[in-house]
Amino acid sequence: MDTYTYRIGNKIYVNLTNRCSNDCEFCVRRTDAFKDVGLWLKHEPSAEEVINSFEDLDSAEEVVFCGYGEPLYRLDVLTEVADYLKSKGKKTRINTNGQAELIIGAGVPEKLKGRIDTVNVSLNATSAKAYQDLCHSEFGEKAFYAMLDFAKACKQYVPRVVLSVVDVVGEDEIAKAHEIAKALGVELRVRHYVQ
Ligand code: SF4
Repeated sequence: MDTYTYRIGNKIYVNLTNRCSNDCEFCVRRTDAFKDVGLWLKHEPSAEEVINSFEDLDSAEEVVFCGYGEPLYRLDVLTEVADYLKSKGKKTRINTNGQAELIIGAGVPEKLKGRIDTVNVSLNATSAKAYQDLCHSEFGEKAFYAMLDFAKACKQYVPRVVLSVVDVVGEDEIAKAHEIAKALGVELRVRHYVQ
């Protein structure tokens, strides 16, 4: 049975696709970790199937579009579900690799306006080469620059834009990540790495 939505604490997470333009070395998709709980989808859900799968939405503080894969492959479904969530007064977030405009074309940030409260873009590394060595994007090193452009563009349409890195990258990389975030005018979130 596929799992389209699941809850951790007071947040609900939405799983729209397995697909991703990256193949990050740390990605859970490289393991069997969640396959037995249905996160590896056999079928990509429609908006109606996602909406029907929400349980106890009233008590959720935030709804997050995230993995298994890259949620913005499913922009049409995502926007339809986000419209439903906004009609219920919910806070919304997307966790993304920031490559949406390479994947589906231009004009993605505009479509998030009024629908998404936070866009969290995984920065992962502070240079195009380091990013590609770690994330293996199908778009090569241009993925890194597209990701930064996407974060910058989202600022015009989304109230909160965050770049994130994991703390295992070390102090020098975290300092460089702070500089990148500052130059783009967005927040940086340093996440604790959980294996
Ligand atoms: S961007 Fe996310 S879903 Fe895609 S390969 Fe990397 S960790 Fe996995």
